[in-house]
Amino acid sequence: MNEETRPEPEFIVFDPQRFLGLDEMGLRVLSWRRLGRPDGPGLRQIRCEPDSHDARWCPSCGAYARVRSSWLRTLAHVPYGDDAVHLLVRVRRYECVPCSRSWSDDLEAVGAGRGVLSVPAVMWALRRVCLDSMTVSACARLLHVAWAVVDRAVREQGMLLLEQADRFSSVRAIGVDEHVWRHGAFGDRYVTVIVDLTPRCDGRPARLLDMVPGRSAQVLREWMQARGGEFTRRVGVVAMDAFAGWKQAVESVVPHAVEVIDPFHVVQLAAARVTKVRCRLQRDATGRRGVKGDRLYDCRRALLTSDEYLGARGRARLMTLFAIQTNHDLMLA
Ligand SMILES: [Zn+2]
Repeated sequence: MNEETRPEPEFIVFDPQRFLGLDEMGLRVLSWRRLGRPDGPGLRQIRCEPDSHDARWCPSCGAYARVRSSWLRTLAHVPYGDDAVHLLVRVRRYECVPCSRSWSDDLEAVGAGRGVLSVPAVMWALRRVCLDSMTVSACARLLHVAWAVVDRAVREQGMLLLEQADRFSSVRAIGVDEHVWRHGAFGDRYVTVIVDLTPRCDGRPARLLDMVPGRSAQVLREWMQARGGEFTRRVGVVAMDAFAGWKQAVESVVPHAVEVIDPFHVVQLAAARVTKVRCRLQRDATGRRGVKGDRLYDCRRALLTSDEYLGARGRARLMTLFAIQTNHDLMLA
């Protein structure tokens, strides 16, 4: 497109009422301002109030109430471009003069409980974290709130969605691994992590199914049994490392399933075996462990590197190593 036909970009006025979806939340914008450098991310503060006249009528006697007091509640809202958006909502307290009853504006549709995030902001954060793999701290930075605020909101809302969704009904292949979650002497140091590998069949990423404290045959057995017969009948593949406990559990609960050792652990086992053989050959040849300058020791990394990542130098090194008769065991390993 040449210069003449390119349309001029339009000048538009930032209209918070329209752009931030405040109509749906029942909020009316009073005024707004932007803080921060003009060329960098900033903070837009939107002063608004609930746009409801029904709240002024007394629920008991139906009289028209007066506003007794008001305060500002700050809610972090969905970011606008690079700018964080904070809603400063004026919450009013009403008082009915005839029956002296008092009540406040209902903000449940705007921000649940005493939460710091607006309802759309919670869903926005959940989407960023769960679907776009954004970190909680990056989310918190964009929303201009503390890390713990986003962490709590995402976990609470995520658990609600998990309870509603039937995440076990489509599972046909699972992966099991352990994770050290506490480095200490007391209590369970491990959690067993169970992922759903079924989406991998279509090239989509695997998804986390559950995490259970502990790492034993019993933990996995009880978890699988708790899912019910329908689940155990459907699971046909279980990927795991070479830990005997899981093998036992799988054999007792889902005996029909194919056990697979995942690629990471296959490589890990093979590498450990190669290193073991290298150490043995070193001791056989010199009667001590390898040190810098020993050919076997100097090749310790090249031996564990796959062919495609091995440079010309590494390949030549291995060739000279394998040329020695006593090192032929390494080629077999
Ligand atoms: Zn009243």
